[in-house]
Amino acid sequence: MSTFAVRCTGLTKRYGDIVAVDGVELAVQPGETLSIVGPSGSGKTTTLRLIAGFESVDAGEISLRGTVVSSSKAHVPPERRSVGLVFQEHALFPHKTVSENVAFGLHKLGSYERTKRMREALELVRLTHLEQRYPHELSGGEQQRVALARALAPNPEVMLLDEPFSNLDADLRARIRGEVKSILADAGVTVIFVTHDQEDALFMGNRIAIINDGRIEQTGTPEQVFHEPQTRFAAGFMGVADFLPAEYANGKVEMELGAFPMSGEDSGPCEVMTRPDDIELTRSTEGTATVLSRTFQGIWDLYVVELPSGAVVRAQRPHYERYEPGDSVRVSVAPHYVARCFAQADGKLMP
Ligand code: ADP
Ligand code: MG
Repeated sequence: MSTFAVRCTGLTKRYGDIVAVDGVELAVQPGETLSIVGPSGSGKTTTLRLIAGFESVDAGEISLRGTVVSSSKAHVPPERRSVGLVFQEHALFPHKTVSENVAFGLHKLGSYERTKRMREALELVRLTHLEQRYPHELSGGEQQRVALARALAPNPEVMLLDEPFSNLDADLRARIRGEVKSILADAGVTVIFVTHDQEDALFMGNRIAIINDGRIEQTGTPEQVFHEPQTRFAAGFMGVADFLPAEYANGKVEMELGAFPMSGEDSGPCEVMTRPDDIELTRSTEGTATVLSRTFQGIWDLYVVELPSGAVVRAQRPHYERYEPGDSVRVSVAPHYVARCFAQADGKLMP
């Protein structure tokens, strides 16, 4: 008997020739927030629709609290899954007040219980004072909180959020996502949060699942997926990364910036990742590398530097260490640098 709030095994969904979701494996603990992050078209929304029960699966299984709700044999309808949904377009009813919107999904309850739940949900999102307003009389952030209250009112065990912040501008978004995170924590609900935005994913999730082309590339804590990427895709998607051609042989990997010892017996052509904070620059008249550009970032400057081979890396340097485009520099890796090496053939971490 599984104790997972949500578990997907081999989850697969096809639309004609397109495999939108391709053998997805997910396991979410009760009370946990899992962020699923990936580019547009990678299968995030389809995964959520499968979990919510709006789509049937072509292969694999979904269990909620240990009970199979979707498989090739079973399909429990959405209204019997105890799952709440919030989408990008909050889809509030324009001619209903805030309280009517929130009470909408509670039609099976008696009027006393219905009002009680509606009030509790509005308290949770701190909007009791706006009960009688209509959606057009609310800010974008308030509308988002009403949508959240509506989804939370029936006391779902699992909340599914599909890019809920993408319609908000940057300032508002940073504030709203903090509010949403604390509201969901107060509700004590299990959350699957879907986004194409790495920053939102890292902020919201206890754990992150990176999805690409319908497949989960890696699942881990925010620190793990950022600092210990298992695939080239995960490395490039979660943060700024450059990849330098390298050769793996005889217990080391060699590339333009040096040779690094490696455990394991692997060998073959690969690519080594550097992030801008891995790269150090020193002024040099020998003309070994050339600064191509500098982007002012306040405390830091971000440099694009061309190595003698023509390969390009980015370097983040403190503002007091100043270079200009055209300057000759020597490029080295910082003492903390750990080479991560991805096989040319399949993009997987070596060894
Ligand atoms: P994401 O939410 O990550 O942007 P989606 O899950 O919406 O991705 O889509 C994944 C893939 O499945 C895309 O190639 C998309 O075009 C395709 N797709 C999604 N829904 C349908 C549908 N109803 N009919 C046909 N293709 C679909
Ligand atoms: Mg989507």
